Order: sequence, then structure tokens, then C-alpha cells
Amino acid sequence: MEIFDTHAHLLDNAFDEDREALIASLAEAGVKLVMEACTDLGYLEKLLPFLDAHPMIYGAAGLHPEELSGLELSDLDGVEVALSHPKVKAIGEIGLDYYWPENPEKKVQKAFFDAQLSLAEAHDLPVIIHDREAHGDTVDILRARKGRVRGVMHCFSGSWETAKECLDMGFYLGFGGALTFKNARKNVEVAAKAPLDRLLVETDCPYMAPVPFRGKRNDPTMTRFVLQKLAELRAMDEETLAAALFENGKRLFGI
Ligand SMILES: [Zn+2]
Repeated sequence: MEIFDTHAHLLDNAFDEDREALIASLAEAGVKLVMEACTDLGYLEKLLPFLDAHPMIYGAAGLHPEELSGLELSDLDGVEVALSHPKVKAIGEIGLDYYWPENPEKKVQKAFFDAQLSLAEAHDLPVIIHDREAHGDTVDILRARKGRVRGVMHCFSGSWETAKECLDMGFYLGFGGALTFKNARKNVEVAAKAPLDRLLVETDCPYMAPVPFRGKRNDPTMTRFVLQKLAELRAMDEETLAAALFENGKRLFGI
């Protein structure tokens, strides 16, 4: 089995106790590639040496919409510097998050999102999009750059209508543990219908552990349970599906 976990946060504190042992165990569990998604400037500082130390791990540099307080757009200079690292293959995770009332103001989130999309265009890199309770604004902002930005809608949670718009703009759709949850509806429909060559599998670990580990710490080996669910939904053999999604990930990120 060849699995590409296209969205992980292995530098999160949740892995401080056993990070290296976990990474050493991934290949045996079939996980051959991991995309490590950055969230804030402190994270970015740790990202580059982490990528140097682990051949199977690639990275995305960017600022998460929930991590913008106290920052200026000029702080994106740090992100731009990181883009020259040969294993930084995307800008992410970036986007909009309207879920928590205490999140940064919408206009601040939109300004950082837009500026990071400009960086992606300038450096010809794909983007990893975080969209939580913000489907309308996210699609509007991306549509304005249709044909000029490409990437993945990570942990896709929108309707089939939104999915069609994203697919039409050339985007991939990433699915993780939420696909296995009992109350999953819209994402299940989209995961079953979307074209195979636009699907990606991911964990978003340490968050979003799939059933039967829901609520526990997630890690890239659990991508297996998402693949299982996806294979069932699409009436496909798990290994064939994993191989197709592995190639999708390599194609999108240019690996
Ligand atoms: Zn994430």
C-alpha cells in the first residue's frame, strides 16, 4: 500500500513525546509521503529543519486564518522566504474560518488570504485551503483568480454545488476523518461523486481522528480508515484507490 497523507501537523505539541518514533513507523504502515501544513510563524521556523531531517515529509508554508492576531501583512515576508526551500511545495494552510466568534475579523482574514494567494501566483505554487463555515466568501475569492491558482480544498465540508465550483476551478478535494463520522452527509455525497483524479486523502492530525478512534489523537497511520471508507463509497478496491490518490497528491504538489 502507498499512502500520501496530504495534510498533517506532526510538529504540533501533541507529538512531542513520540514524534520521531511515530515517523519511523509510517512506512511500515503504508504511509510513504506526508504533507506538513504550517499554521503560524513559530511553526514555520520549525518546519524547514524538520523537512531537512525527514525525506518522506514535504511542507506547505503559510498562515492559518485563526493565527493572524497581532500580525501585519508584512509578516508574510517570512512565508515568502520559506518558499525557496526545495521541499516547500505549497502555500498553506490559508483561507477563512468563521466558526469561532473570537476569530480574527473577516476583513483581516480576507486580506491575509488574498495576499497569500498572490504569493502562490507569483511563485507558481498550489495552495492548501482551510474553509470553515465560510464557503461563499472562500469560493468568491478563489473565483476572482480562476485559472491562476490551483490547490486543494482541505477537509472538504461543502455541498455538491460548492464542490462542483471548486472542481471547475481546477481544485482537488481533500477528505479526512470527518468522512467516517456517523453524522457525515454532504462530504460523503461529494466523496462518492467527485472525479477520482481530483481526490486526496488526509488526516489533519493530531485532530479529526477517524472512527473508531474519534476523539483520540490522530496520526498519519489512520489515513487507512479514511481510505477504507472512501473505497466503500466508491465501490473500489482499497489498494487501487490508495495508489490513485498517491499519484494525485504527487501531481498536485509537484513531487
Ligand atoms: Zn490543518
